[in-house]
Amino acid sequence: MLNNSLYNIFAADKTDEMIKIKLPDGTIKEFAKGSSPMDVAKGISEGFARNVISAKFNDIVIEVATPLNEDGSIVLYTWNDPEGKKAFWHSSSHVVAQALEELYPGVKLTIGPAIENGFYYDIDLGDKSISDKDFPAIENKALEIARGKHDFKMRAISKKEALAIYQEQKNQYKVELIENLEDGTITFCDHDTFTDLCRGGHIPNTGIIKAIKILSVAGAYWRGDEKNPQLTRVYGISFPKQKDLTEYLELLEQAKQRDHRKLGRELELFTFSAKVGQGLPLWLPKGAALRERLENFLKKAQKKAGYEMVVTPHIGQKELYVTSGHYAKYGEDSFQPIKTPKMDEEFLLKPMNCPHHCEIYNFKPHSYKDLPKRFAEFGTVYRYEQSGELHGLTRVRGFTQDDAHIFCTADQLDQEFKNVIDLSLYVLGSLGFENFTAQVSVRDLDKPEKYIGSIENWEKAENAIINAATEKGLNFTIKTGEAAFYGPKLDFMVKDALGRQWQLGTIQVDYNLPERFDLTYKGRDNELHRPVMIHRAPFGSMERFIALLLEHTGGNFPLWLIPEQAIILPVSEKHEKYAEKVLKSLEKHEIRALVDARNETVGKKIREAEMNKIPFMLIVGENEEAENTISVRRHGGEDLGAITLKDFNEMVSKEINSTLKSF
Ligand SMILES: [Zn+2]
Ligand SMILES: [Zn+2]
Repeated sequence: MLNNSLYNIFAADKTDEMIKIKLPDGTIKEFAKGSSPMDVAKGISEGFARNVISAKFNDIVIEVATPLNEDGSIVLYTWNDPEGKKAFWHSSSHVVAQALEELYPGVKLTIGPAIENGFYYDIDLGDKSISDKDFPAIENKALEIARGKHDFKMRAISKKEALAIYQEQKNQYKVELIENLEDGTITFCDHDTFTDLCRGGHIPNTGIIKAIKILSVAGAYWRGDEKNPQLTRVYGISFPKQKDLTEYLELLEQAKQRDHRKLGRELELFTFSAKVGQGLPLWLPKGAALRERLENFLKKAQKKAGYEMVVTPHIGQKELYVTSGHYAKYGEDSFQPIKTPKMDEEFLLKPMNCPHHCEIYNFKPHSYKDLPKRFAEFGTVYRYEQSGELHGLTRVRGFTQDDAHIFCTADQLDQEFKNVIDLSLYVLGSLGFENFTAQVSVRDLDKPEKYIGSIENWEKAENAIINAATEKGLNFTIKTGEAAFYGPKLDFMVKDALGRQWQLGTIQVDYNLPERFDLTYKGRDNELHRPVMIHRAPFGSMERFIALLLEHTGGNFPLWLIPEQAIILPVSEKHEKYAEKVLKSLEKHEIRALVDARNETVGKKIREAEMNKIPFMLIVGENEEAENTISVRRHGGEDLGAITLKDFNEMVSKEINSTLKSF
C-alpha cells in the first residue's frame, strides 16, 4: 500500500536544495532534490545505469524516473535481481492488459501482479472467451505495443476522480478496489493509450520487453472467493531477450517431463480419486512400498540416534489444539470440528503431531537424567487447502510427516542440534541431493516484544543452531527477523535438477509448547524446569519429499529405493524356465525383480522397461542359458555384456552401498 510520503514525491519541486542518499554499499552521496533513481545509478556508473530497471527508496518500490525529494536509502535493481524481474513482469502485465483490451473491447480489468515466474492478469471477459489458439494474436499485439517504447508514468489521482472513471466504465472490480483505498494514496499508471489503477513498481518503458509468451488461461474467482464472479486469469511471461524466452520454454518442457504428477501416474506410485476427495492421495502398491522403504531407512537411522517411536491418533479433542494454539492458526480456515452424539463434544482432525507428543511427554514426571527424550512418529495430519491451491503431492489436504520432537535441557540444545543436522545430512546424502543450502532464521533484536521465552534462552538457542551449522560445514545464510515467535529454526533448501529451489526438512526450537502444556523436569537442583522442545522432520512430509525426489531424479530413484531394480527378459518362450530360475536367485539376494514373459519382441520389452525407469534389463536366451549367465543392459542403453549371476549380485550391492551408507 502506498503511503503519503510516496504520494508527495510525485509532486516534485525543482529547487537547489540537496538531499542525502544512502547507497546499497552504505556510502552517502548528496544529490539535488528532485533527482531520480536513474540519476543516482548514473552517479555510480553509466554502464550499470543502462541495466537499472527498478528501484526501492525507503523500503518502497518506485520507478527509476520518480523524483526523490527527501533523504533516504536507495536500492537499484536490474533484470538479474528478483525485484527487477518483478517490476519487469508486472509492467508486462500492463502491456498484455492493453493488448487484451484492444483485441476484446469492453472487457473489464481487475488485477495483474507479477508472480514467481512471470505474471497474470485477471479479467472479466463478459460473454467472450480465450483459448490456446488466441495466444499468438495476444502475444503479437502485446509485442507490437512494447516496440512503441512507451514510458510508464505514474500519476496521483483523487479518489473521487478515480471512482468516476471506473464507474463510467462500469468496472465494479476497480471501483471496489478504489473504495478500499484512502484518498491521497491513489495512483494511476499510464503508458501509450493505456491507463490502469496501480501502486507502482514499473520498468522505465515498454521497449525493454523483447519477448512475451502467454502461457495459459484458467478460471479464478474475484478476490479468490467462490461466491464472487469467475474471472479469466491469463498467465504470461516476458523477457528482455528472445534467447531468454527460448531457454525458459526448454526448461518448462523438461519440467513437464519431470512433473511428479505425470511420473507418479506412469510409474504407478499414487493416484487421486474425485470420489475420495481432492488433495487426498491414494498410494498404489509400488508407491506404498517405496514409502515403506523410505520410512524404514529413516527409522533405522533414528533408532541409532536414540529416537523412540510413538503412535498417536488422527484426531484429538478440540481443547487440545486450543491449548497448543493450533486451533487459532488452523481452526476457522481448516477442517471443521467433528461432532459426536454427546452434546458439546468436538474433535479435530489433527493439523500437527506436536500436541500429542507433548501429552506423551507428560505421561510421567521427568528428571534431568531422563533427558533428552526423542519421540518420533510418521504422523498423518490434515489441513484444509483451497481447491485452487492443491497441486499433486506438494499441496495436499492430508499428509504424513516424518515427525519427531526432542525434549531436552537448554544446555543439551547444542549437541541435539548437531545430531539432528547429522541425521538430515545422512538422509540428503543417501538420496543423492548434493546441491543443498541451509537457512537459519533468527529473531529481530529490535523487536523483543515479538518473541516469547527469555532472552537468555533465545541466545542459547540461536548460538546452538549457528554453531552446529558452522561445525557441520553447512552452506548457510542467516535471516534476521524470520524466526517464529516461539523459537529460531534451520531449514534445508535443495535445488532440483532444473535449478528450482525447494524447501525440505526443518529443525525448529520451541519455547512455546512446553509453556502451554506445562512440561517440566526435575533439575539437579531438585527444582522443576521447562524443557526445550525441538521439532524436526528431515523429509518434511512423505508426500512432498517423494514429489521432489521424482522431479529431481526424473523417476530414476537411487537403486536402493527404486520399485523394480531389474527386469528379466526371456528372448522366447523356451527360456522362460531359465528366467524364473534367475528370478529366484535374485530374490534370494533381495534384489527386486520381475520377469516379462509377454509374447512381445525383446526390443519392445526393452523400450517399456526404459519408460518404467528400471535400472537393469537382464536378457536371457540360448547362450545365457547354456553358460548360466545373463546379458545385462543398463537403463539408458549401456551394454554390460554377459555376466554371471554372482557378479551381477555383487555389482548391485556395491552400487547400493555407494549411496546408502550406514548411519
Ligand atoms: Zn502497475
Ligand atoms: Zn512439531
